[in-house]
Amino acid sequence: MALIVQKFGGTSVGSVDRIEQVAAKVKKFRDNGDDIVVVVSAMSGETNRLIDLAKQISEQPVARELDVMVSTGEQVTIALLAMALIKIGVPAVSYTGSQVRILTDSAHTKARILQIDSQQIHKELKAGRVVVVAGFQGVDEAGNITTLGRGGSDTTGVALAAALKADECQIYTDVDGVYTTDPRVVAKAQRLDKITFEEMLEMASLGSKVLQIRAVEFAGKYSVPLRVLHSFQEGPGTLITLDEEESMEQPIISGIAFNRDEAKLTIRGVPDTPGVAFKILGPISSANVEVDMIVQNVAHDNTTDFTFTVHRNDYHNALQVLEGIARDMGAREVIGDVDIAKVSIVGVGMRSHAGVASRMFEALAKENINIQMISTSEIKVSVVIEEKYLELAVRALHTAFELDAPAGKGE
Ligand code: ADP
Ligand code: ASP
Ligand code: MG
Repeated sequence: MALIVQKFGGTSVGSVDRIEQVAAKVKKFRDNGDDIVVVVSAMSGETNRLIDLAKQISEQPVARELDVMVSTGEQVTIALLAMALIKIGVPAVSYTGSQVRILTDSAHTKARILQIDSQQIHKELKAGRVVVVAGFQGVDEAGNITTLGRGGSDTTGVALAAALKADECQIYTDVDGVYTTDPRVVAKAQRLDKITFEEMLEMASLGSKVLQIRAVEFAGKYSVPLRVLHSFQEGPGTLITLDEEESMEQPIISGIAFNRDEAKLTIRGVPDTPGVAFKILGPISSANVEVDMIVQNVAHDNTTDFTFTVHRNDYHNALQVLEGIARDMGAREVIGDVDIAKVSIVGVGMRSHAGVASRMFEALAKENINIQMISTSEIKVSVVIEEKYLELAVRALHTAFELDAPAGKGE
């Protein structure tokens, strides 16, 4: 008998019909003798709908109140799933994050889980019930409702699996595993049987939303066996594994991630003196804006151009701060660009192979795609390009790194 945590995403609980299908699936596992804790997201579209409502009141709603509201999406689905289970004869009980006591810090809309009280859940399991827990939410020390950031139900699932010392955490979604790249963009993308935590962490942080990055972090830290599976189709899914050895035989690149959520800011003609990077990025960071990629060009007239990217949500804020800095420093001008995208290739195989980056640049050059910024780490290379070329770039790289499924095998 195993203890399994199963997380079902928004589309998998997107209608009453689907919730009943999820209940039937959970029942199968339980009939098999397993103890089951289920984590669910809000019905698909619901979190967006709630955020839109708040935005009708204020462009920047008060974060505490936003959390009170968006956490209701998951409260609806836990109750519906518990009802559906009970209807088919499976004893079940639902809990919100704060009822379990998923304790988080107080960073509203992007809170981190600090501790989970597993006592009550263990008690319910012992009494023979399936426990249905609301994803994406917790409670801080003072009793305020918090949420964990978009896609945060994945993290609830993995964190619960860690706290309960579950045998496996299964992330059920609308694709049958982790693919070489988003299968909705590249029809020839292939499902991976396995991917290492390290690679999955990069993929998630570089834009593959199939798993929230914090879920992968948690799984790696607490060695939670983690698998991504299709909610309604049978199949082995993708195992996220610690084991790098076996992936040595795999291609150099395991996957391609991309991200349309960034914006680029350039401050031109800044006097090139020591401390210039700090003078620019200090105030940006004080404004709570996180910077991703950075490039500084050395010019010939003792001035420099400094370019960096931020999350698109932070663009207007960053632009305003940068315009202030430009005035103070006597810079020539500030240029903003939201029509950019970041494409990254990821693979532990890069450690043992040279020339991966140049192969990437060659593939993009062949398609006449201009590279605006580059950043590399041990197992990834990222480039910023014009957004309109994003899909072309991803497809070209997928082919160049021999990731395309053989004819007839793709979706
Ligand atoms: P859920 O609501 O179940 O959490 P998400 O929409 O958050 O589902 O994540 C699943 C989606 O992630 C897929 O529909 C797919 O379009 C996207 N995706 C992006 N990159 C990948 C990838 N490398 N492999 C699989 N899916 C990916
Ligand atoms: N409902 C939340 C969201 O849409 C959390 C999740 O689905 O994981 O971001
Ligand atoms: Mg998700």
